Amino acid sequence: MQTLLDSNTRHGTPSADVPTMPLLIGGRFVASESLEWREVVNPATQAVLARVPMATDKEVDAAVAAARAAFATWKKTPLGARARIFLKYQQLIREHMAELAALLSAEQGKTLADAEGDIFRGLEVVEHAANIGSLQLGEFAENVAGGVDTYTVIQPLGVCAGITPFNFPAMIPLWMFPMAIACGNTFVLKPSEQDPMVTMRLVELAMQAGVPAGVLNVVHGGESVVNALCDHPSVKAVSFVGSTRVGTHVYQRASLAGKRVQCMMGAKNHAVVLPDANREQTLNQLVGAAFGAAGQRCMALSVAVLVGEAQAWIPELVARARTLKIGAGCDNPDLGPVISGAARSRIHALIEAGVAEGATLELDGRHPEVAGYPDGNFVGPTLFSGVRDTMRIYREEIFGPVLCVMGADTLDEAIKLVNANPNGNGTAIFTQSGAAARRFQEEIDVGQVGINVPIPVPVPLFSFTGSRASKLGDLGPYGKQAVLFYTQTKTVTSRWFDDDASSGRIHTTISL
Ligand code: NAD
Repeated sequence: MQTLLDSNTRHGTPSADVPTMPLLIGGRFVASESLEWREVVNPATQAVLARVPMATDKEVDAAVAAARAAFATWKKTPLGARARIFLKYQQLIREHMAELAALLSAEQGKTLADAEGDIFRGLEVVEHAANIGSLQLGEFAENVAGGVDTYTVIQPLGVCAGITPFNFPAMIPLWMFPMAIACGNTFVLKPSEQDPMVTMRLVELAMQAGVPAGVLNVVHGGESVVNALCDHPSVKAVSFVGSTRVGTHVYQRASLAGKRVQCMMGAKNHAVVLPDANREQTLNQLVGAAFGAAGQRCMALSVAVLVGEAQAWIPELVARARTLKIGAGCDNPDLGPVISGAARSRIHALIEAGVAEGATLELDGRHPEVAGYPDGNFVGPTLFSGVRDTMRIYREEIFGPVLCVMGADTLDEAIKLVNANPNGNGTAIFTQSGAAARRFQEEIDVGQVGINVPIPVPVPLFSFTGSRASKLGDLGPYGKQAVLFYTQTKTVTSRWFDDDASSGRIHTTISL
């Protein structure tokens, strides 16, 4: 079967050798008329995989207009009909798992195993979306006054927009459009311009599953396309996942334009390790969560706070980190390259800053040798000890395979440190003490908390959340909270006159 990548994407391209990413407008995959394009590059080889347009204002308008037109009928489509599309969609994603993972790994760099995980966590949201009707229920109160009933209906908002980051190009788009559409909205998606290919393949499968024309639309681009979506009067809600800098801008701009906005943003996630923790399990989990996916997870554990005697575990942590295999994602090593040369340079600069500011570089991952891939953006596991909270490597999100190790004398000191960091995305405590874990859970000001679980991303029965600089807006992007985010409540108060009982009396006072 031909897919977007080998068929209709080649029209109007700067070069016929490399496929171009189409826009999806009103049910048609169309070539952009933009004069501005960027390349999608395999981060292990620098091979150009595709070209992606920065959509024009006219194209953004057309996508929003198509979504707006489709809303009129989609909002009236029966719940069961909507659900069956997502039942079919989850099946198609399962059937194409290997193809999707290979595509994702090639453009993003993560290992095939991580790529499958990325898709699977999105697939779980699609499964949940198929059942969303059971959460989109109103309330009913009989006889709020004599013969008068009040009830609520939970209605879709209209056109919603989603803006997604590069690091989970399958899971995060799937956090958004299936939930929004299943709730009866129409959607305009703006994928990351760094790795839009797997997202587009997922969009193509959604259309194959039966999403009607105009219900899901895609525009590619960067800052100006995002700004156009934030400003557009027909867009009712914006869901953003990405860095704190951009998310704060999106929140402010879209809120000012009167939209509902949710922004899931940057992180600096701490692992707090108590000396009574299971040593073997904890060290393995720390290494996996710090360096897996090359540290490019918003839930990566990038700071380890070793409490008391656990500070003696540093040599063992370093020894385990040293054993990790680096390579191209398709060879399924422990970690692949980072997304771009620019990302690698930024990570190098932060490592240099850490050295200059006096942290101890226990393991230096700059310039690793990766046989067969001399041009890859590789950074190997890097570990600093003696990190202080004033250092740049602690204050900034590095978003690479760099672990900062700090010490604390007590659990309370560790909690204070975590709560003083500006970010509050994820954290984990490692201990065998239920009392310590409970205190941590209660006192810590962070959205996702793991207890002997390093990356506690909630399954879709719950919602992803965040605290402080990691989140703006009060509702999460999937799970129950997404139903509230993508709907509005209408309250109806009704009275039906019974012909036999009608007195014909005219009411002149304001009453129920
Ligand atoms: P990013 O903020 O650079 O980009 C996110 C999106 O915003 C992209 O679609 C991009 O095109 C767009 N964008 C970029 N610059 C813009 C600008 N100046 N104005 C308007 N739009 C702009 O993020 P990224 O580098 O793609 O992703 C990594 C970041 O995302 C990290 O900070 C990570 O912690 C965060 N993240 C957070 C979560 C979460 O749930 N909290 C999940 C995944 C990633």
